[in-house]
Amino acid sequence: MKIDLRSDTVTKPTAEMLEYMMNAEVGDDVYKEDPSVNQLEDYLANLFGMDAALYFPTGTMANQAAIKLHTQPGEQLICDKWAHVFNYEGGGVAFNSGVSCKLVDGHRGKITADLVKEAINPPDFYHSPLSSLVCLENTTNKGGGACYDLDNIREIKKVCQQNGLGLHLDGARLFNALVAKNQDPKDFGNLFDTISVCLSKGLGAPMGTVLIGKDKLMKNAIRVRKVLGGGMRQIGVMASGAYYALHNHVERLEIDNNRALEIGQALGKHSAISEVEEIETNIVIFYLHKEFDEIEFMRNLESKGIRISNMGNGKMRLVTHLDYKDAQHNYFLDTLKNL
Ligand SMILES: *Cc1c(COP(=O)(O)O)cnc(C)c1O
Repeated sequence: MKIDLRSDTVTKPTAEMLEYMMNAEVGDDVYKEDPSVNQLEDYLANLFGMDAALYFPTGTMANQAAIKLHTQPGEQLICDKWAHVFNYEGGGVAFNSGVSCKLVDGHRGKITADLVKEAINPPDFYHSPLSSLVCLENTTNKGGGACYDLDNIREIKKVCQQNGLGLHLDGARLFNALVAKNQDPKDFGNLFDTISVCLSKGLGAPMGTVLIGKDKLMKNAIRVRKVLGGGMRQIGVMASGAYYALHNHVERLEIDNNRALEIGQALGKHSAISEVEEIETNIVIFYLHKEFDEIEFMRNLESKGIRISNMGNGKMRLVTHLDYKDAQHNYFLDTLKNL
């Protein structure tokens, strides 16, 4: 049996999704004439109660475009030290927008209103960069799938409003959080100026992220996307896969979240493992006892057909997803018992 738990990006389109994609109506999306893309964008804008949405090839490009829309060169954004926009987007904030990041020492990738307040540079002190944007991540990737309570976001929003800062959400796995916490997308639409939502992680579409936001910011988004090289043509073939996923693969995220919890319980009983972090969604982070070697632990799992990620410094990660089914789950739990 082959089990790939390195990430929820490894999912492949289902037969039903492919069938749906084959029948997509398409047009030239650079002219905004692709009905399948327009349908996806309208659907998500409505779902979050926001003005506009735009389909991007990747989550990185959507986040980078959002940062460009919110900032001017020389300014500064505020984010957690583990944020994807800072750690895993190739330094794009500096490359694309000419801004720096003020890193905040949050907990499991989540930050608080007080931490944001402390991180803001006084706007009339012209020696330091002008703070102009706060980026949150929900769920947090490096933070092990932790999710925000709406009340914490409301407090952060208040600080942003008081200080004239924009508020962007990197919602690569937002749907995992919405399902886990039974939250309403419209509450998120209400609080954020822009939100990126990834369609090719747990939702299982082959590609794409949609940036959703307020008209005032979004009217320039298509230009920024063009500059970044993200204007695509008959891309409705892909957008329709995402549309299919939004109608068929959202509720089932609960299954991924539950399986992650069960894996966590099994790992917690294993003698080689010193700690399993709290599991809130589909990401499991755990640590080995000092006397065990991570490389060997991974090799041992791989010899049984199971792949997970090594995040360095004793930190291991696995992520459940659409292509990790009951048979794989049972096999993995059995394997763990005998490892
Ligand atoms: C995956 C991910 C992204 C987007 O990554 P792409 O590979 O560019 O699609 C953005 N933010 C977070 C937190 C992610 O996990």
